[in-house]
Amino acid sequence: MSLLERYAERRRRTVEAMRERGVDALVVTVGPEMPWLVGYEAMPLERITALVVRSDGTAVLVVPALEAPRVRHRDEVELIAWRDGEDPFERVAGVLPSQGRVLIGERSRAGWLLELMERRPGCRFEAAGSLLAPLRRSKDPDEIAALAAAASAADRVAEALLAGEIPLLGRTEREVSREIAERLVAAGHVRANFAIVASGPNGASPHHDASERRIQVGDVVVCDFGGTWEVDGEPGYASDTTRTVVVGREPSGLREVYQAVLEAHDAAIAGLRSGMTAGEADAIARGVLANAGLAEVFLHRLGHGIGLEEHEEPYLAPGSMEELRVADAFSIEPGAYLAGRFGVRIEDIVVLEERGPRRLNQSPTQLVVIE
Ligand code: ZN
Ligand code: ZN
Repeated sequence: MSLLERYAERRRRTVEAMRERGVDALVVTVGPEMPWLVGYEAMPLERITALVVRSDGTAVLVVPALEAPRVRHRDEVELIAWRDGEDPFERVAGVLPSQGRVLIGERSRAGWLLELMERRPGCRFEAAGSLLAPLRRSKDPDEIAALAAAASAADRVAEALLAGEIPLLGRTEREVSREIAERLVAAGHVRANFAIVASGPNGASPHHDASERRIQVGDVVVCDFGGTWEVDGEPGYASDTTRTVVVGREPSGLREVYQAVLEAHDAAIAGLRSGMTAGEADAIARGVLANAGLAEVFLHRLGHGIGLEEHEEPYLAPGSMEELRVADAFSIEPGAYLAGRFGVRIEDIVVLEERGPRRLNQSPTQLVVIE
């Protein structure tokens, strides 16, 4: 399938879903929906870029004139370029129906929505997520290839970390974070999106921001990082992996906690099958950690979907009744967070295939002591 066909096919499925639900138009601005629908990503700036998809199947891209040259695949979609000094909301409202149901991408600025509501008082505006997220969730073979390439690139950084090639002892978390980010780009990502480095007691905070703390002997260090992988300038796919290492010597209790988290990770992946609920997958890992007395310190859900966004549907949360399906891509990332002591997390991206789960991250998961 050519790229033009890929985006046209996605819009066709979107229009079908709109008609089924009696939706008259869809407006997406910043966020992952526009790149998914037309292969163009709006600049996240104050000038509005809006893609309007209508239930008759036509699509219009309203774009600031100065950004129009960046638009690819433009022959597929009517282009309206607005110039500074014009009212862009008139242009967007002008391609909306005068009344009916209009879905709007949730990342759109509240101010933009208010402008459109004022100009189209006959329209009822609703969130677009419930229509688009289930469509975006199912990854096609090209998307899976991009996620796999992103994961392999992140694996090269993880392998360098595990091999002791990224110095830890005596450096600050921020210095290590910067090196991981540079290595993500050197490994082929177009950019690094984040590089959490959480040492010693900081590891007990799952989303700790790399700080000026210097890494010492006996520190457990949680490194969670990812970037964006692009093919030929098309919208990029995310990587996201976590490895936890220890510097110099293991603190007491680490081995048991690490083994329990690893077992939870392995058991959850081994137990994945299409048709199970996301909550059931979460419960596998949570059960292993509960058996090790760690239920209370597994502070978050088991995982999240991944694609154009780092976090998207499906979310593998406790009790979720959402069914996991073939072509879902998501993280499996159990953790244990011992306040004042250390944290442990192991994270891999998995794609659910017909035959079962396929791990896209391949770097080793055994506990490594970095000298
Ligand atoms: Zn992560
Ligand atoms: Zn993650």
